[in-house]
Amino acid sequence: MTEHTLTVAGVTVDTRHWIGGERVASARTFTDVSPIDGAVIGEISRGTPVEAAAAVAAAKAAFPAWAATSRAERARLLHAVADGVEKRIEELAIVETTDNGALLRSHRRGVMPRVAHNFRFFADRLLTLAHEDFETRGHANHVSWDPAGPSVLITPWNAPLMLATWKVAPALAAGNTVVLKPAEWTPLTASLLADIAAEAGLPAGVLNVVQGYGSEIGDALTSHPDVRRISFTGSVPTAQRIAASAAARLTPLSLELGGKSPLLVFADADLDLAVDLAVEQYDNAGQVCLAATRILVEDSVAEEFTQRFVDKTTALRQGDPRDESTDIGPNIHPRQLEKIDGFVRRALEAGARAVVGGHRGDGQYYAPTLLTDVAQDSEIVQEEVFGPVLTLQTFADEEEAVRLANDTRFGLAATVATGDRERAERVTARLVAGTVWVNCFFVRDLRAPFGGSRHSGVGREGGTWSFDFYCDLKNTVTAPKGFEDHG
Ligand code: NAD
Repeated sequence: MTEHTLTVAGVTVDTRHWIGGERVASARTFTDVSPIDGAVIGEISRGTPVEAAAAVAAAKAAFPAWAATSRAERARLLHAVADGVEKRIEELAIVETTDNGALLRSHRRGVMPRVAHNFRFFADRLLTLAHEDFETRGHANHVSWDPAGPSVLITPWNAPLMLATWKVAPALAAGNTVVLKPAEWTPLTASLLADIAAEAGLPAGVLNVVQGYGSEIGDALTSHPDVRRISFTGSVPTAQRIAASAAARLTPLSLELGGKSPLLVFADADLDLAVDLAVEQYDNAGQVCLAATRILVEDSVAEEFTQRFVDKTTALRQGDPRDESTDIGPNIHPRQLEKIDGFVRRALEAGARAVVGGHRGDGQYYAPTLLTDVAQDSEIVQEEVFGPVLTLQTFADEEEAVRLANDTRFGLAATVATGDRERAERVTARLVAGTVWVNCFFVRDLRAPFGGSRHSGVGREGGTWSFDFYCDLKNTVTAPKGFEDHG
């Protein structure tokens, strides 16, 4: 450990920003704390508008050469970054778990391989990106995806490297340069990504990382005149501030926000499958934007469903996320825990009943909770808790199920459990959501569009949609006349 590095389980992490291919320290720092045991991990450079502007300037300087780099070379470099991620999966996994408290086994086997895949997928997609040329009265139309410019990417703490690279990879593939601002509660893996990108040979200034509080450097990034794209994942209030800040320059935005997604369980569903889908909503201690936190069950099976759900939930092991047998780890921060507890206390005061949980655990843990007797217009049904707290309501028929499912200001995802294919088609067609799963949950293919409706987001990323967002699309129309060869 030196003045500007810290170590986590033997892995060295640089605590400074990464700007224009150099490590840059701020005069002040903020303290990074592990949610596992509250231990101080280290002091991280606390960015100011000065470092934010320097990062944008570095991204601007690197942009012309990167945009002019051939698709094949950009793809080669992104695959080299993926190779670097794959070599360091163990290191990335333990650092991420220490920083955000999510399960080590899922970081090792699911998340970090997926991080590498983010780079491989967008590298390969770049190589096949094309629109068929077409003719208008003999004039040739050619559609191209032109790199847009420096892009600011702002990400949350619940899946730090996964969500960062889901933006970094397509932005770089598109030929844009990047300033990444990870969440202040989870700054570490973004710093490791800078190391990996540099080792892979990414030119200086193509990827920049600035650390710090959104409230202190956010504006300097999102209102900057040289920034041509902003992609943000996080909460609705922050998105509203960013949209206001970007408005003066009309900087195009992609916003991936919160949710209050429903799980609809019909009486004809495979009940064991439906219960498994419901219990899965406690993954990552409920800190998943897509989580189906509102369970809606058809009256006739509600009692049976609830009993089986309680049996499964009480068997879950809550504890140290580094332990292979743990199912649920801690919540991210004392402030978040306080917020979760506030939601549950107010719901109980309003007449809700805790079928399981309903209280804090030891340390920074919250007991997996299921609340019943909740009103549709109550806070606990309408607002995102972002913790291991689910509600259960019942419905009489398909009409009521769809009405309850759609009755929030969100529209990120929805899950339907039914044994009737025709019902599945009828119901999914009526749900307002960016992603709908039938008899499954969290199956995510990078070819699919991803995003939310209503307050869950603006725009879609994924597959070609990512390139549509990060690029300036251009149509070039060429007449069949006027050339020297008259051809
Ligand atoms: P947040 O909005 O508090 O913070 C997200 C990021 O924004 C952080 O990096 C933060 O530093 C930064 N930020 C804060 N103020 C800013 C400002 N004024 N200008 C610029 N940046 C600023 O969100 P969070 O608590 O970190 O994340 C949880 C939220 O994210 C939940 O609502 C969750 O549903 C949502 N989320 C959505 C998705 C999705 O894909 N739709 C995925 C994961 C999380």
